Amino acid sequence: MKVSILTKSDKRLSFIVEGIDTELANALRRIFLTEVPAMAITDVLFIENSTPLYDEIISHRLGLIPLTTDLDNYILSERCTCEGAGCTKCKVEIQCSVAAKDTNRNVYSSDLVSSDPKIKPVSDKILITKMSKGSKLLFEADARLGLGKDHAKYQAATKATYKYFPEIVIDQKLLKDYKFKGDNENDPLVKFCPRNVYKWEKNELVVTDIMKCNLCNYCLKIAEVPKGAIKVRWIKNKFVFFIESSGSMPPERIMLEGIKILADKVKYFGELVKNMIEKQSKAT
Ligand SMILES: [Zn+2]
Repeated sequence: MKVSILTKSDKRLSFIVEGIDTELANALRRIFLTEVPAMAITDVLFIENSTPLYDEIISHRLGLIPLTTDLDNYILSERCTCEGAGCTKCKVEIQCSVAAKDTNRNVYSSDLVSSDPKIKPVSDKILITKMSKGSKLLFEADARLGLGKDHAKYQAATKATYKYFPEIVIDQKLLKDYKFKGDNENDPLVKFCPRNVYKWEKNELVVTDIMKCNLCNYCLKIAEVPKGAIKVRWIKNKFVFFIESSGSMPPERIMLEGIKILADKVKYFGELVKNMIEKQSKAT
């Protein structure tokens, strides 16, 4: 398997994966979405709440606030030596103490105080509730790592998709007598391709950017284009992936963790098969 990065930003990443088949590509996509752990608030203990929202509503809203995640220093509670009780390796404490003394005010994610400064809401501007003058909100909460397959609040990636890597083959000889040859203004190929993939350069039809092609095959349906002059297909075993992070961790970390999880799963499955074969050979 060969991975190469196409574009990256703080929250988005696109990359090419070569040397895998569709089944493996889909397994990777699903792992990015559901098996890369991310932090989220799991338990809330309300001490005082005189805001217009019930405790249940506020705790639900708190659970959905994306938190920055540190996978180097935290592990899933069920894999921790504390056996899920909660310790510094698997749990972060978050507190909130807000009083609307003189005027009405809003409670935002910036009002949450974490026991670990590295684990905090990805944005300070997420509204939790509104408060009228004289009301109070006081609670303590726990945040832990979890998996997207158990609850969407643990999804590190808000989007993970892939598409086949497109390939366009142009036969310039068949386009020799093409009615719109060299005409960038009127050629339906240039004008109507929804992704602006084609243009004429020195009387040759060229592809401007192969990555723009989404394999819609519109170009193959244009009656004036000689049959066979353009072939649009996808390259087997080559995929373009897109990942968007919730902000919990950089998207390249999601990619690396996902690939690692898949490799571990394959290794584990291999061991199971090996044990099964050994058992069968002993029995016979
Ligand atoms: Zn623990």
